[in-house]
Amino acid sequence: MTPNNPLKQYFRQPSIYIRLPSHGEFYPPGTLDMPPNGELPVLPMTAVDEISYRTPDALFNGAAMVDVIQSCCPNIRNAWAVPAMDVDTILIGIRVASYGHDLDTSSQCPACDHSHEFTVDLRSLLDRIKTPDYASCVRHGDLEFYFRPMTYQNLNENNQLQFEQQKVMAMLPESELADSNKIQGITDALKRLTAITVQALCQSIAMVRTPTAMVTEPEFILELMTNCDRKVFNSVRDHIIKLKSDAEMPPLSMTCPECQHGYEQAITLDMTSFFEAAS
Ligand SMILES: [Zn+2]
Repeated sequence: MTPNNPLKQYFRQPSIYIRLPSHGEFYPPGTLDMPPNGELPVLPMTAVDEISYRTPDALFNGAAMVDVIQSCCPNIRNAWAVPAMDVDTILIGIRVASYGHDLDTSSQCPACDHSHEFTVDLRSLLDRIKTPDYASCVRHGDLEFYFRPMTYQNLNENNQLQFEQQKVMAMLPESELADSNKIQGITDALKRLTAITVQALCQSIAMVRTPTAMVTEPEFILELMTNCDRKVFNSVRDHIIKLKSDAEMPPLSMTCPECQHGYEQAITLDMTSFFEAAS
């Protein structure tokens, strides 16, 4: 940016300030520039931002979203490092800054199938996002597990790996291979999916403590998780799932205008529809 541009005052200005659920924790040094009051300015998207997230592959590989986040939240220096619990807040902030706080959406009543339109105030969603308790640990005998959230980069890589294996599994039944080869192919794909799941769990484990050692090396933790008692594995897995669901947006309470049935509607920030709906 040129320092003496007389047009500078016409550049985009922050239009909303957000508080990160992580409070800026878990960001490696240099990846976040946290303002003293804890409120991050969010700028509206530029035309270039808008084009980049609409590129078909952009959402899938995450790189374009990283560019958009860094463009609209300049305090975030490296969006790959963003902990998973902050992602929804940041995306909602960008949506509000760029298109306003009303999101028109629809909901179908599970009792009578009646579908009705409604408007969500995205600012009220921001207030409802909670901070999961990453300070708690899981104990098993004299083993202690400590946790951390996955990064945006972890999330993206896992999604891509999972997608590839699911694609293999979906294509195999239709393929020209002999039946025995198909079964082998599906078994292999399932094994790889399980390996991806275990790897993803390990990304959420910050440290394992024993009476004599504090282990943070990912390769040692992965070996432990593939060789431990299933009871240990399951309690670690359940704890990670709980932390993840604590960070999710609570569902909205709805009443069907047709039959008055009360139900809960989950809010998903499916990126394509989330941003496209506003244009
Ligand atoms: Zn109904």
